[in-house]
Amino acid sequence: MIPKEIKKFVDYFSKLPLLGPRQATRLAFYLLESDKSSLKNLSEAMSDLLKLDRCARCFFIKEENEKLCPICSDEKRSPTVIAIVEKETDLMTFEKMSKFKGQYLVLGKLAEKGILEQTQKARLEKLKSRIKSELGGSADEIIIALNATAIGDFTSDIIREEFKNLSKKITRLGRGLPTGGEVEFADETTLLHSFEKRY
Ligand SMILES: [Zn+2]
Repeated sequence: MIPKEIKKFVDYFSKLPLLGPRQATRLAFYLLESDKSSLKNLSEAMSDLLKLDRCARCFFIKEENEKLCPICSDEKRSPTVIAIVEKETDLMTFEKMSKFKGQYLVLGKLAEKGILEQTQKARLEKLKSRIKSELGGSADEIIIALNATAIGDFTSDIIREEFKNLSKKITRLGRGLPTGGEVEFADETTLLHSFEKRY
């Protein structure tokens, strides 16, 4: 009754974030409405993702045939200042700011419970050994650029502890009042943090 092609499509797409089986089914029928050439372009855009790989240094995305990602292979960027971000999209936001001239470590999505997964531990270990082997045992600065959430706080504490002897400075993104935010209207947590982070 339902063609197997659609069933297969729904099986895969309903596993994606934001899509349940119903949305995936709707998407399938929506795509069937569009002309064949745009459908072909879409499927090419998807299969092109296969050409990407993970950078062995920062774990961002790189082209399959390149050794490192464009950020790690950019000689103008300082390898001794490292921002630890959770997600690739966080890195991209950071890059949009175009202020940061160091390198990164993409940790990977943090679990709800805040416990580091095996891959995340392995990525941190990789950074440690890079600091030891390439940076003479100490980075200039590690910037913990994790979210200002309980999980972010918890993970930051772990990172601070793990890297305390491996970096001259370990900082965390300031959590001051948002631009234009007024002390009077700030919630307690925001105010407390901005107070603690005063300079
Ligand atoms: Zn990289």
